[in-house]
Amino acid sequence: MLALPLKAVSIVPMGIGKGKLIVGNWKMNSSPAADSALLECFAKSSASFGTATVVVCPPFTAIAAASKILAGSPISIGAQNVHWEASGPFTGEISPSMLRDVGVDYVIVGHSERRSAFGENDAILSKKFYAAMASGITPILCLGESQSERENGLQSAVVERQLRAVIDPQKIEHFGNFAVAYEPVWAIGTGKSATAEEAQTMHRHLRSVLADIFGEKFAEDIRLLYGGSVSGSNAAELFAQKDIDGALVGGASRKADEFLAIVASGT
Ligand code: PEP
Repeated sequence: MLALPLKAVSIVPMGIGKGKLIVGNWKMNSSPAADSALLECFAKSSASFGTATVVVCPPFTAIAAASKILAGSPISIGAQNVHWEASGPFTGEISPSMLRDVGVDYVIVGHSERRSAFGENDAILSKKFYAAMASGITPILCLGESQSERENGLQSAVVERQLRAVIDPQKIEHFGNFAVAYEPVWAIGTGKSATAEEAQTMHRHLRSVLADIFGEKFAEDIRLLYGGSVSGSNAAELFAQKDIDGALVGGASRKADEFLAIVASGT
């Protein structure tokens, strides 16, 4: 194990004891009327969120409006993507400081849809991950195996490789807050969640890899989210697992009742 001297680590622990982190990923779904109805409903319910931290990740075009609606509520805003440069000739891209300017505190990095449909590899994801943290944005690093990798028993090795490819101990001095989302590709948008036991087994493994990199104390404080067909009916069982510290929610995050039921399971 690589035991790093604590002084060299600048992680601000997020504290598992502080409650679940529940993140809604709207993907490419947004319209002004539907977004405001949803956000107003979330904001109204937020007094009952208890210890849960709730984040919504609208598409870029809807972030500024969402920030306005959520101002004064405890709900945070996340983005679904970010570029690593601060500014310049990068047509179509959005920088971390631009996200900060519209109220973004979190960003999803390495969602499987970006890995598979947009060719985002470890080198790109690593740049995004560190650029977000350098700007004070908490990256949520997504990892997960494909169906065939699971069928071949490769899931632990695949996910560990994805994690180690981005979490580079050589860059330790640049670390701030981050979270990790285990999202098996076969569970995303399919209605077929991993079982609570499958998810817990993987989260335990991820925690031990993080402990190998950072030491036990910091590994305990890093939030590990599960994502993949989380719903109001399976959230409580998932959240009851020792190493599941929250959820990254896709489809259900656009349905007020369903999302609020997930949040209620995490309070
Ligand atoms: C996701 O997009 O990150 C996701 C987990 O989607 P869903 O909840 O729809 O499976």
